[in-house]
Amino acid sequence: MEDLREILRQSGFSFKKQWGQNFLTDTNLLRAIVSDAGVDGESTVLEIGPGAGALTRALSERAKKVLAYEIDKSLEPVLSRTLAGIENAEIVFCDFAKADMVALEKELGEYVVVANLPYYVTTPVVMRFVEEAERCRGITVMVQEEVAERFCAKEGTAEYGAVTAAIARKGSCKITRRVPREMFTPRPNVDSAVVKIDFTSGGFAVKSERAYREVVRCAFLNRRKTLENNLMSVFRLPRERAKELLAAAEIGEGVRGETLSPQTFARLSDLLVEYKILR
Ligand code: SAM
Repeated sequence: MEDLREILRQSGFSFKKQWGQNFLTDTNLLRAIVSDAGVDGESTVLEIGPGAGALTRALSERAKKVLAYEIDKSLEPVLSRTLAGIENAEIVFCDFAKADMVALEKELGEYVVVANLPYYVTTPVVMRFVEEAERCRGITVMVQEEVAERFCAKEGTAEYGAVTAAIARKGSCKITRRVPREMFTPRPNVDSAVVKIDFTSGGFAVKSERAYREVVRCAFLNRRKTLENNLMSVFRLPRERAKELLAAAEIGEGVRGETLSPQTFARLSDLLVEYKILR
């Protein structure tokens, strides 16, 4: 492939900050991301934001098929050069937020997501797969380093929150590599990390996904308050009822929500369903 920066220059492309356009060019790093994602000849890959196509190209060398959504139509002439001769990659010029997940999954069958995500949509995009996807086997995404820490955080840490608990319910999550800001063109103001969320391992069942989400929201609503107090105010429970629930879920008195594991939130939310406080 010709030099990416040269292609961008010749195409008169101007980087758009509002769409998080920080591109990767290092072939070794791109291949390492593909390898972290476990992409092989059987894989169907969904990429969000192919940009100039460097990751798309690396993915298409290993995958059976790549489908990529790019919001910026002005990248079309760039992509037609960087992906010249590649038969198994298709680009759709569309805002991924507007994509119909049900129709997309029907088209793809089982798939994995691999992306260097634009920072401004990282959490909504990841949460969309965590909450809505049914055929996605995993997500391997480059995100801002502190967001990566939040996704994979352990209970009791400052990074642990509602997003961590939502991800943990669906699968296992780990940081596969740290990527310094110098690796991007143009250089952003933050370092990044690649996170892999594997929906085929870890994760656990709950009686009601909605109830689990409500309990997690309640636990983190006011981090300085005890879980007992948050339960009382969110679900309008008398103190005795809140105490009874916590005892039944084997949660100690005076505990704050942020110290509890996702599995403990599941135990509590199942009880709230059993007691008909939530559905
Ligand atoms: N994958 C390329 C790489 O690694 O060099 C580019 C990554 S760049 C961080 C993010 C890309 O996502 C940009 O090309 C941007 O235009 C695109 N993008 C931003 N918002 C989008 C959206 N809502 N839907 C689809 N693409 C989007």
